[in-house]
Amino acid sequence: MGETIAKNKKAYFDYFLEEKFEAGMVLAGSEVKGIRANRVNLKDSFIRFVNGEAFLFNAHIGRLNTTHHYYSHEERGSRKLLLHKKQLMKMIKAVEKDGYTIVPLQLYFNARNLVKIQIAIAKGKQLHDKRQDLKAKDMKRDIQRAMKDYWLKLVIFLVIFVSSLFSFSIELSDSTIANGKTALLEFSQDKNIKYDKIVVGKKKYKIYDNPIHKEKAYVLLPMSYYEKPSDKKVEIFYTEEKNEKKRVLIFRVKDGKYKKEKIKVQKSKVSLNKKDKKRASKEYAEAMKIYKTSTEKSYISKEFIVPMKSKITSGFGKARVYNDSLKGYHSGTDFRAKIGTPIIASNDGVVVLAKDRFYSGNSVIIDHGQGIYSCYYHMSKFDVKKDDTVKRGDSLGLSGDSGRVTGPHLHFSFRVGGEQVDPLQLIELINKNLLQ
Ligand SMILES: [Zn+2]
Repeated sequence: MGETIAKNKKAYFDYFLEEKFEAGMVLAGSEVKGIRANRVNLKDSFIRFVNGEAFLFNAHIGRLNTTHHYYSHEERGSRKLLLHKKQLMKMIKAVEKDGYTIVPLQLYFNARNLVKIQIAIAKGKQLHDKRQDLKAKDMKRDIQRAMKDYWLKLVIFLVIFVSSLFSFSIELSDSTIANGKTALLEFSQDKNIKYDKIVVGKKKYKIYDNPIHKEKAYVLLPMSYYEKPSDKKVEIFYTEEKNEKKRVLIFRVKDGKYKKEKIKVQKSKVSLNKKDKKRASKEYAEAMKIYKTSTEKSYISKEFIVPMKSKITSGFGKARVYNDSLKGYHSGTDFRAKIGTPIIASNDGVVVLAKDRFYSGNSVIIDHGQGIYSCYYHMSKFDVKKDDTVKRGDSLGLSGDSGRVTGPHLHFSFRVGGEQVDPLQLIELINKNLLQ
């Protein structure tokens, strides 16, 4: 290897590096000039495969003032990497495994003075691995804060890389998304562009007007809890000046690494009798019919709030092992609540269900519009009935221990586009992005 031009130091810290490769790069003349002038930064750069080819995203190559702007390049544009088919296959296969990715390591000149990039198959370190490394280096750093900063940066650079690829501005809230979580795509409204639909895999998603910012449109992409780690192709269909067009972007579904929870229950509670089974499946069908309908209009104008200020006793996504057999997962967030604790509406909306159900007991479901529903279960008393309009903070009733529970608490959950997702992550996503 020749003279190093730039190093991606964070990659060495964040990953266990396995096999390394040397790749050539497709570069514009102005980019080569920028590299020769040492105006390169690999920080926050990453590699993704698009149609079987590898691309380096978000590496910063500075423009020289001497280059005319017209002939110059996007400083954080995507750059195609030159690799042999065998090497590509090896890497594509590697990233299919959970926790694996391809990372850029360093940029250098080879013996023939050509720009090369060293990349590696890498496995993300678990928090405790990193913690050990930190200890080894005697660095005292708040890991959680570092992770938070990292995610924030990820959001920011994605906005840049995505908008450089599109003729209209799209903001994807995250490039990787765990199963059970929700991603957000935002579009700027343009009188020449009409957004038709979004397709991910075989699923279609509706594009809605932003509830408060009329100049923007959005789509929420809820990932099923049962979604396996993979790269997902997002196809955006739109009409620009009467021409039908399509754009594609890629994001990755990662494993949410949810904890397992062992629950011992009486056999009669696990296997239902015929009557209960019939009732439960009827109630399920009724709820799914509600979740699959969506209004064009949004009822919300302010941020979502939690339904009570109380300790969270069980988070979303814990895998549930009843008497040693896996039976689903925890589909919401549980709040500690003794019988009779007031429950309030998370946001404005219409009550679409308020009744006693087999599993969830006394339940309230609120339609917030545009396919977003919040649910409140195991209540002891209702303050609302079906078709009531509620405002954020209005009393819905009191907590209890109705339905299939081991003790009193509030089970709070959300559905988006029919999918059950982490309620607290969804609230944060909407509050911090959509409504800001
Ligand atoms: Zn629960």
